[in-house]
Amino acid sequence: MFHVKHFGVVVIGGGHAGVEAAAAAARRGVQTALVTLSAAGIGTMSCNPAIGGLGKGHLVREIDALDGVMARAADLAGIQFRLLNRSKGPAVQGPRAQADRKLYKAAVQVFLAEQQNLEVVEGEVVDLIFEGGVCKGVVLADGSLIGSAAVILTAGTFLNGIIHVGDQRRPGGRVGDPASERLAHRLREVGPGRGRLKTGTPPRLDGRTIRWDVLENQPGDADPVMFSFLSKAPVVRQVTCGITETNEKTHDIVRANLHRSAMYGGHIEGVGPRYCPSIEDKVVRFADKASHQVFLEPEGLDDDTIYPNGISSSLPVEVQEAYVRSIKGLEAAVILQPAYAIEYDFFDPRGLKSTLESATVEGLFLAGQINGTTGYEEAAAQGLVAGCNAAARALQTAPWIPTRRDSYIGVMIDDLLNRGVTEPYRMFTSRAEFRLVLRADNADQRLTDIGMAQGLVGAVRAEAWRRKSEALRLGRQVLESESFTPHELGLRGIKLSQDGVRRSALQLIALPDVTAAQLLDLVPAAAQIGAEIRAQIGRDVLYAQFSARQNQDAGALSREDLVQIPVDFLYRDLPGLSKELQMKLDRLRPATLEAAARIEGMTPAALALLLARLRRHERAAVR
Ligand code: FAD
Repeated sequence: MFHVKHFGVVVIGGGHAGVEAAAAAARRGVQTALVTLSAAGIGTMSCNPAIGGLGKGHLVREIDALDGVMARAADLAGIQFRLLNRSKGPAVQGPRAQADRKLYKAAVQVFLAEQQNLEVVEGEVVDLIFEGGVCKGVVLADGSLIGSAAVILTAGTFLNGIIHVGDQRRPGGRVGDPASERLAHRLREVGPGRGRLKTGTPPRLDGRTIRWDVLENQPGDADPVMFSFLSKAPVVRQVTCGITETNEKTHDIVRANLHRSAMYGGHIEGVGPRYCPSIEDKVVRFADKASHQVFLEPEGLDDDTIYPNGISSSLPVEVQEAYVRSIKGLEAAVILQPAYAIEYDFFDPRGLKSTLESATVEGLFLAGQINGTTGYEEAAAQGLVAGCNAAARALQTAPWIPTRRDSYIGVMIDDLLNRGVTEPYRMFTSRAEFRLVLRADNADQRLTDIGMAQGLVGAVRAEAWRRKSEALRLGRQVLESESFTPHELGLRGIKLSQDGVRRSALQLIALPDVTAAQLLDLVPAAAQIGAEIRAQIGRDVLYAQFSARQNQDAGALSREDLVQIPVDFLYRDLPGLSKELQMKLDRLRPATLEAAARIEGMTPAALALLLARLRRHERAAVR
């Protein structure tokens, strides 16, 4: 077969999965082509102009620890940084940043342009090349061929994409972009099991028509927490967002027009993201709530477009106008781009290997929204793994398989492969049973060495990590160098039980009442440890004790898989279990804990709770 060009890896798609896949393969030294419908569209944020959040922020840190692109681009484009769950422990805190859309895209494109071994090819992939049943490249719409040792498909919402606004429907990959129909058709013939999913986006508003003066403001954090371990501070002007809320009138308008909604009028067969509900979903599912918050987020520094987070919809445009204008501050708001829902093909992720290569089509890797996930971060994280492993195939080296114990990336891939999806999958901290170990703050400690061994980490990060890990090692050594009795500590104002046990400063660092000044008083040499390194050692020590317990609990859970659940078990009002899970369990009545674990939406934390209650139930029955 005649090949116009030959690469080690070809990536189809320049979205968040495609960018990380192509950059990762190229970082490993493999000649890589990124083929996408529009080179100028690389790095487009199809929906909300924000990166990170709970669980998602962890993924971004992990991508960064492996020298990926997303965190650094988000830091360069960030116009408001907030650490979510700041009042809770570091394990469940999630960094989030509002991004300037144009700056984000520009930053991604600069990173790719600077990446060696990477070529961007503008074009539509319409077919795959097979030799002896193995995927060996792609065919473009203009008839040209690109051969490769591995192909990574990251076509997002484009495969057979259909955009819905009320009863209007038209093909499209996202607004303004064509759908990818020829490739979708071909994949139906050769590809793994296919299904349909949907997602939606809110109307975009003209910020000049919003009454900001009557709205509550939401500023960013005074001490912004960056995504990348290499970034220090925001580089562009920071902005404030507005907050408003829906009201009874908004809900009445939505309720009266439900039959006109694409999602509720029966025009869409795909299932949507439960955790990102449309305004129609909210009005129906949470009928007793009188209002829902709406965050008014600027899309950019030199852009008046506002993203009203919380009111996505597939209602007709005139209904969107009516419900928007029923909201305080938005009485005269002009819609710049209507809300819409999109329905698209995805492939059952249970048909993948842990490397993200298809189990049935050798040489074809799949990553991103097409594997049933939703969100930029989930897509990017899969892209990185697919890129690393497609490169491994080209290089004929061993793949990298992330695990539930080393990363949220591992949790996501394990969930997708073992449970599949019936609705778009998004990351939450509750999905990780080892979440005290898998913190955003220690992603580099967990993953950068792995990334270096895989050849994923460039020289700049490798050097920064070498210096940081050495500083952590020396810091621990200094703090451990001397130990003190409770009496000696008491004399310096540190009150502990008089148990006679000698403790080092390392053991004291995580205690809430011990100050930096007291530590320095105990070990003057600790003055040489930088504040950031000291804080990191403190978090590591604090969580070391809990994580040992968590490992035990997780071990206990795997031994308890066969525990029987009585048919009359009372799930309702089980404290700590979400109403949604209570209802699901009540309806499905799993016979064992293992069957409960397979229910979609079930989390390791919920399983641990269930196990504790079952044990109590058993003890009560014995008595
Ligand atoms: P995409 O970002 O969709 O990128 C796909 C890429 O593939 C594009 O560059 C496209 O040009 C290219 N491509 C497709 N077909 C071909 C082909 N045949 N040849 C060459 N190139 C091709 N996420 C959330 O977290 N929350 C939300 O509320 C949310 N709402 C959304 C609403 C809408 C309307 C849309 C469209 C998406 C929404 N998302 C949301 C999802 C988010 O945009 C995606 O999860 C994310 O962009 C997926 O990244 P990806 O790389 O898998 O695909």
